[in-house]
Amino acid sequence: MTHTILTGDRPTGPLHLGHFVGSLQHRVALQEQHNQTILIADMQGLTDNGHNPKKVADNIFNVMADYLAVGICPTKTTICLQSALPALAELAMYYANLVSVSRLERNPTVKAEIASKDFGASIPAGFLNYPISQAADITAFDATLVPVGEDQLPMIELTNEIARKLNNIAGQQVLVEAKPLLSKVSRLPGVDGKAKMSKSLGNVITFGSTDDEIVKAVRAMYTDPNHLRVQDPGQVEGNVVFTYLDAFHEDKQYIESLKAHYRRGGLGDSKLKGILVDCLINLISPIRERRAHYLADQHQLKALLKAGTEQADQKSQQVLGRVKSAFGLSVF
Ligand code: ATP
Ligand code: MG
Repeated sequence: MTHTILTGDRPTGPLHLGHFVGSLQHRVALQEQHNQTILIADMQGLTDNGHNPKKVADNIFNVMADYLAVGICPTKTTICLQSALPALAELAMYYANLVSVSRLERNPTVKAEIASKDFGASIPAGFLNYPISQAADITAFDATLVPVGEDQLPMIELTNEIARKLNNIAGQQVLVEAKPLLSKVSRLPGVDGKAKMSKSLGNVITFGSTDDEIVKAVRAMYTDPNHLRVQDPGQVEGNVVFTYLDAFHEDKQYIESLKAHYRRGGLGDSKLKGILVDCLINLISPIRERRAHYLADQHQLKALLKAGTEQADQKSQQVLGRVKSAFGLSVF
């Protein structure tokens, strides 16, 4: 079965290892068989960066270069820019009438994000509203599958609620519902051990990280606080270094043998961290080289993004037309 896939990222920083295991790996595989669109969500990036828009603007090509460097191919995947697709903003305006404020305030991901940010009493309306804008993004491409990390499940739920409401109003199917596609590691913790690696939390290893930065990040990782001497038995559960080895090391049997060794004692943290450093440098360094190569030619990046955006504009305008008709607003 061929799926229509929509997914994307906020250009609030270069992409990181959380993106890699949470979504990018899936996307690289899915583009071979499915009709995939990837959105650089710069408007959504502004919802908590209105005071610092440069951060968003400056990262658009970083994210584009990351996509190409990990193997997303612009002839197989349509890569497009949210702010250059007016139908998305229009759809969000229509959908806002189908969602209550209390429904937005209940969104667990948004609640957690608000708690971790310094909004004080001034939560931007755009931030509270971003799940509606995301529903516009997903439905504008008639997406049936959305490869995402766990934090995005409430957004897909809301998207489907909006689709059902609109279909009900219209008395026919105007919008299709979408299913999330979670990977095995649907929430990679940060290098600081916090629940989620996230650009905004600054606890990331990116595809641009140097070998030194990788070494530093791994050295600072928490292991088992009770594993004081090499010969002591150590705990694997909740040990960030093992979480990363599980997520990134290809030799699963070897990792199981390391776990057994660590549990019975005799495997030191610095040796363990050395294994993780080698694994991450092997993964990141070729991506980092390709990324630098793509970033050196901004004209090419711009041309590729423009071509994808033009294609996406046509599709999203069609869906906007259907939604306006459903509201009886296709007057001209
Ligand atoms: P920000 O802090 O600006 O929100 P972010 O690091 O959360 O940035 P997003 O652009 O919001 O990244 O997320 C893009 C996609 O990557 C989403 O599908 C999200 O679920 C996934 N993702 C982000 N971080 C992780 C993570 N740590 N583990 C798994 N998936 C992740
Ligand atoms: Mg995020």
